[in-house]
Amino acid sequence: MPIHEHWHATAAAKGFEITCRVDDRYHLMLRCEACGQEHRSKLHVLMTSQPLCPHCMDARWRADAEAAGLVWLGRDPEDRHYGFYQAPCGHRLRRQFELVKRIAAGECAHRCERCQNEKEEAEAKARGWSLIGPAPTKGPGHRRYRHSCGHEQEIARANMQSGRFNCASCGEGWSTAPSFIYCMRFALPGLAPLVKLGFSRNPDSRLHWQLKRSPDLSGHILRSVPIRNGHTAQSLEKKMHAALRRDHRDSVIPSERYRPWLRVKSEIYAAGLQPVILKLLDDLDTGLRATD
Ligand SMILES: [Zn+2]
Ligand SMILES: [Zn+2]
Ligand SMILES: [Zn+2]
Repeated sequence: MPIHEHWHATAAAKGFEITCRVDDRYHLMLRCEACGQEHRSKLHVLMTSQPLCPHCMDARWRADAEAAGLVWLGRDPEDRHYGFYQAPCGHRLRRQFELVKRIAAGECAHRCERCQNEKEEAEAKARGWSLIGPAPTKGPGHRRYRHSCGHEQEIARANMQSGRFNCASCGEGWSTAPSFIYCMRFALPGLAPLVKLGFSRNPDSRLHWQLKRSPDLSGHILRSVPIRNGHTAQSLEKKMHAALRRDHRDSVIPSERYRPWLRVKSEIYAAGLQPVILKLLDDLDTGLRATD
């Protein structure tokens, strides 16, 4: 089968060289000038539009994947905008090429939905619940969960993490469980010492797993007083904060200062208030004993 001169000219103008004709009168082999590799093309595509070299495209997808911290596995035969990638966690992800480009450019981060799901399931399990799925009517911050009593409920994920919610059916939860009011002291980089007053079902876990953004930050519990339940602890703690803010306004530390180190928005005071707070806790302790 002959290769006409004007075909050669068209191919050259589009960055290819025709090496031979194949299969039937409609197909030929094109060699890419950029990468030197050949692919089979329709004559019609060569003459009417810009042929795309599949080897160059593959190399670009592979490079984008690498720049995004992923491993290129191949394109999705079902959708020309999507490819398969291996994430650093080992899971296989299906992602749009454009999204991977944006991740590579640092415009957004990649998130493995399977890892995310496992993490959320573990959070729920730790509190005696199981994750069912999203809660579309309540928004992206909520999930649908099932309690060990069988009841299903939509709960904010943040509340599932902190444990500050109750089962609407059996009533089990933070407000009925025993709690503590605590005082913690922090020595954060570049800041004068700080103290925190708060309540928690588990002050130790609150300090190490929720408050501190990094495990090497210095913080410890000075005192914690047991309270009969979370509901009482919360109302006592609120009153104490109101009194502290009223009588020691200058000791209230603005949240911008400690936000880089602590996951909390208020309840932090200059360490000069430590004796005052410990005295409040002492009074609380003896007061509770007196009433018990
Ligand atoms: Zn090429
Ligand atoms: Zn994963
Ligand atoms: Zn329940």
